Formats: sequence, structure tokens, C-alpha cells
Amino acid sequence: MLFNLRKKYFIILAFLIFLLFLMSGCNFYTSTDIPTKGALSEEKKDIKTITITAVGDIMVHMPQAKSAIKPDGSYDFTPHFEEVREYIKDSDIAICNLETTISTPVKGYTGYPRFRSPEEIIPAIKYTGFNVVITANNHSLDNLEFGVVNTLNALDKYGLFHAGTYRNEEESKKILIIDKKGIKVAILAYTFGTNGMEVHIDRGKLKYMVNYIEEEKILKDINRAKEEGADIVILYLHWGMEYARTVDEERKTLTDKLFRAGADIILGTHPHVIQPMEKKKITTDEGEEKEVFVAYSLGNFISNQRDRYQDSGVIVNITITKKNDKTSITEVSYVPTWVRVFKKEGKTQYRILPVGKFLNCEELSSTELERIREVWKETTDIVGSDGIKIKD
Ligand SMILES: [Zn+2]
Repeated sequence: MLFNLRKKYFIILAFLIFLLFLMSGCNFYTSTDIPTKGALSEEKKDIKTITITAVGDIMVHMPQAKSAIKPDGSYDFTPHFEEVREYIKDSDIAICNLETTISTPVKGYTGYPRFRSPEEIIPAIKYTGFNVVITANNHSLDNLEFGVVNTLNALDKYGLFHAGTYRNEEESKKILIIDKKGIKVAILAYTFGTNGMEVHIDRGKLKYMVNYIEEEKILKDINRAKEEGADIVILYLHWGMEYARTVDEERKTLTDKLFRAGADIILGTHPHVIQPMEKKKITTDEGEEKEVFVAYSLGNFISNQRDRYQDSGVIVNITITKKNDKTSITEVSYVPTWVRVFKKEGKTQYRILPVGKFLNCEELSSTELERIREVWKETTDIVGSDGIKIKD
């Protein structure tokens, strides 16, 4: 009897342990979670991911050009970009706004208000890892038609894609679509104006030479990009009030309209300071729900503007994923940057610094450390953290 009772308890206990084992097993996985070998490789084959990197204005004020001059009279701008190169060079598509025109040694070089810069800024941009250069901005016509043509020729010479200005009508009709790993990215660029320089351009030529922000034209171009198979449409818009850190209602309204019409990413330049960024869900005019991203102003990537806020910018990274023919924005992050101007061997030097990495750098003076820490706070405060990651 006693033996039977013990046996009974033993069986119950064994059953309970078995049950516990089964239950704990459920916490790890269920049979439906185990993909068969075939299914796994099938799914992997259908997921494609690329990274898009974007920065704001690349300006060439005369002190920057002076600092890049070599003993033989040629220029080397690469040191200015050395510290941020690692954040850009491995990106699939890396875009910057070239806010100057390329001149020649014979024609000479000038800074503000009509920018004409040495060609050597282009190989430095390429060296940093950029492969797309935006040319539509209020300085596009600083050297009239020659400047437009010579700038685009220089970009072609170094194998860089460009968008926003054109040498002829035929070229202006082509939409820049870059196919990376099977994801087609359209890049369109427009500017609010060209500082009045347009009056010096033949009217017939002006029609194609610069893309201006005209709602109807942008909407048409978005449509064309879609028709030509673009999975993602990026708009680079040169707009807004200079030095304003807030976003006006007019641009908010236009942004919403362009998103509803099919734009996925809107990147702003021109204010020379950073403005808010936003990642949000919208419903397009065609009823599709999707995530979109806007950075109203990316700030100065490099310039000689030293006033508060004008000395900083951001490198934005956007991850795009295409799964079963549906393309979406899966992650957005950014790196705050600050332009350091300092003297070395009696010569003025420029360096774009990734802020997070240099917050405690002993090489910086106490004044520089104070400023770079302020920049970290200013930038992270204005960008916020609503679904947008900060990287140092
Ligand atoms: Zn501008």
C-alpha cells in the first residue's frame, strides 16, 4: 500500500516535471518559429537593404580655399573631411549639397557673395565617400552659364552623380535614378531661387538650367520617377529662412503635400543651421500607408560661418529595406558634426568633427571643448529622439 502510494506520487511528480519542461520549452520557441532551410533562404533572398547618407551645405569661403592651398599652387581639401570620412564612405548612396560653382585658375576664385571655387573640392568630396552632389541652390548661377557647365563637367570627370542643374534641355529631362542592390532610388533637387542671377541668363536656357521649387513641376517629377520604377523618391529642397531654427507653416504644408504625392524622404538645405527632423506615418493620395522622413535643414556641413548654430550640421543615415517588392524606411539615425577651425604651423586649418567622438578630446582647447559640448546639446535638443537615433 505504502509502496503503491509512493509510486503514485512518483508518477505524478514525474508528470509535473515533464509538464514544466514542456511549458518552459514554450517560452523559447514553438514549432512554427523554426523555419525550414528552404524557407529561410527563400526569405533572405527577398530582403534587400541599403543605406542612404545625407549632409547639408558644402560651402567654400575664401579662408577655406586659402587653407587648402599647397606650395605648388594647387589645392587639397581632403584634410577638411578626414575625420568624418568613416561615417560616409561605406554608404550605398551618399549625398551632399555643393553650394558653390567650379571655376578655373585662369578665371580665378571668389567667395561670398558669388562663389567660384577650385576644382579640387570635387575630388575631396569623392574621397569622403559622396557619390551624389546636389547643384540646385541659390548659388547655382554665381558664375552664370559657364559655372553651371563647368561644375557639371567637373562632377562627371570624377564620376559623381548630380541633380538640380543641367547643361541642356535633354539632360534636364532625365531623372536621376540610382539602382543599388535592386533598390531604385530617385533623387530630385530644387531651389527657391538663384539670388537674382537668373536675369543674366537667356530665357530659353533658364527653362532647363536650374530646377526651381515649383509645386506643379515637383509633383510631375515625382510621378515620372514612380513611372520609371523608383522604389524610393528623395527630394533635396534648398529652402527656408536663413539662420532660422524653426520650421514655418508654408514648408510644413508643402512637405505634407509632397509626401502624399509619393515623396519618401525630404532633405532640406540653405538655412545654414539645423532645423527639426521628423519621421512619421502618412497616407498617400493613393491610399497607401507608409513611413516618411523629413529633415527641414541639415545645417552647414562645412563653411567658414563661425556664429553659434552655423558652425554645426548633421550626417543623416537612412536605412531602406525592400521586402517582397515593398520598400520602406526601416531606420533613421544621425551624427552631429561641428567645424573646427584652428591654427597649425601658422596656417588656418578646417576639420569637420563628429561631435560625439570629440566630446572629451584632449587635443581640443578648453574653449573648443566648451563649444563642442554645447553643439551636442543644441543638436540633440533640436532633432529630438522621436524614432530617430543619435550616433556618436
Ligand atoms: Zn543657400
